[in-house]
Amino acid sequence: MRVVVTGGAGYIGSHTVTLFLQAGHDVLIIDNFANAAEDVPDRVAGLAGREAIVLRADITQPESYLKAFEDFAPDAVVHFAGLKAVAEAVADPLEYYRVNVGGSLTLFRIMQGTECRRLVFSSSATVYGDPERVPIDEGHPCRPTNPYGRSKLMVEEIVEDWGRSDDSLAAINLRYFNPVGAHPSARIGEAPNGVPNNLMPYISDVAQGRRERLQVFGDDYGTPDGTGVRDYIHVMDLADAHLAALELTGRASGVEALNVGTGEGYSVLEMVRAFESASGRSIPYDVVARRPGDVAISLADPAMAEARMGWKANLGLDEMCRDAWAFTRGRNT
Ligand code: NAD
Ligand code: UDP
Repeated sequence: MRVVVTGGAGYIGSHTVTLFLQAGHDVLIIDNFANAAEDVPDRVAGLAGREAIVLRADITQPESYLKAFEDFAPDAVVHFAGLKAVAEAVADPLEYYRVNVGGSLTLFRIMQGTECRRLVFSSSATVYGDPERVPIDEGHPCRPTNPYGRSKLMVEEIVEDWGRSDDSLAAINLRYFNPVGAHPSARIGEAPNGVPNNLMPYISDVAQGRRERLQVFGDDYGTPDGTGVRDYIHVMDLADAHLAALELTGRASGVEALNVGTGEGYSVLEMVRAFESASGRSIPYDVVARRPGDVAISLADPAMAEARMGWKANLGLDEMCRDAWAFTRGRNT
């Protein structure tokens, strides 16, 4: 199959492109490299034994990729490109709506004009907001609590409306829980610019001595050890979910949302201990105040993903920590 992957040089995109190439799909990556290293596509080609075509272009600027899109004539689009930092979105919501919503609309218009009707969109569990119940199934109300989450929900709603108007559209909104880890080769992984926002890259930095101490945001939540519980999913399992979703768009029509998680939750302190044991390093930490906007527990009910796509996560916490650590050690050494 011929697949356009926007944001294919990024963290989740690069792992997914690796699996697509290995599965025999032809890939056109569209990425502006705003949050990706230049050498990622070469690393991906090294892992897959085949190359993707790479176009440096911005999804908000149609003239920068319309011709390449038309020439490539994709069967499907997997749409990762976007901005993802919650605090940044709160500080500059218009930029988040411009890129995440405006960029998606521009891309969908181009798909519409080129008869491309198969789409997999990177949504997020953040669309659910503060959960009323856990595990969270897809029927849970969506009430995102910040502009980043709202931008994701807006795109989901745009895709749903598009599907109502065009019954040839087959689209899946994948709601990711907490992606972590790296390719087992340690050649690609998560390499955030500046201070990491997320727990796992921060822990990795502390283990490597790049940062001194972890700050644990609150230990007074209603969880077994008082720290926040999340559903962490290995990025290779997540990449595999995209392969399954791509296949589903070939046999289903309409628009659906599917959770991508493991259904298992770990607290911040459990993550610290697992990483200490994977790395053999100690992770000093201080408990500080809760981070505004954080919820106590977020946990997926992944049953629908299994029923619809025949997909479920296979990798556990040990593999997540092992692979994140191997990638971190390989970086800057
Ligand atoms: P990432 O930043 O590593 O990847 C995004 C890629 O998109 C980057 O390569 C970046 O250069 C590119 N990009 C950004 N703006 C662009 C633009 N205007 N035009 C073209 N390319 C552009 O992020 P990721 O973690 O791989 O996330 C991928 C998608 O998954 C995002 O849409 C994100 O919102 C979503 N998501 C991520 C997480 C997570 O925790 N990582 C969780 C839920 C959902
Ligand atoms: N967390 C933390 N210290 C950090 C980063 C995160 O204690 O430096 C906690 C956070 O409060 C949450 C969990 O780790 O309970 C996961 O946070 P992350 O930002 O990785 O994901 P999200 O909040 O999006 O679920």
